[in-house]
Amino acid sequence: MSLNELYREVILDHYRSPRHHEHLDGPDGTAEGKNPLCGDEVTVEVKLDGDAIIAIAAIGVGCSISQASASMMTEAVSGKDRREIGELVRKFKVMMSIEDSEEEIVDPDRPGAALGDLEALQGVRKFPVRIKCADLPWITLQQALAEVTE
Ligand code: ZN
Repeated sequence: MSLNELYREVILDHYRSPRHHEHLDGPDGTAEGKNPLCGDEVTVEVKLDGDAIIAIAAIGVGCSISQASASMMTEAVSGKDRREIGELVRKFKVMMSIEDSEEEIVDPDRPGAALGDLEALQGVRKFPVRIKCADLPWITLQQALAEVTE
């Protein structure tokens, strides 16, 4: 199986069986994101204990990239605190070429190698319109977190 086929399998798996796809009971923060270009919608709900996400939900409709990115994100940020999440968001945006990195990327062919399943989205970099699909859940997560005052 080639790397691209593997990436496609991972994306389809998250799209077909999205993780953390049930509404939370009494979330601390909620945000809704829309990507009108593609018709993607995602609602992100978070529950925090202090600084850390103890429960998260991402529920939405849209293309496989947006929904798979949402599902992968919920797994990646669960249990992490705001600082760790900020770091993860930055690494994701560097991998997707949304942000530049000052650091040297260890393997330019696999800039997302440390991001687990999220690495599967790096192929989307080649399609600028779809980058917005992949980024939508992350923008929405940051809005949901901003709603929660410490
Ligand atoms: Zn989309």
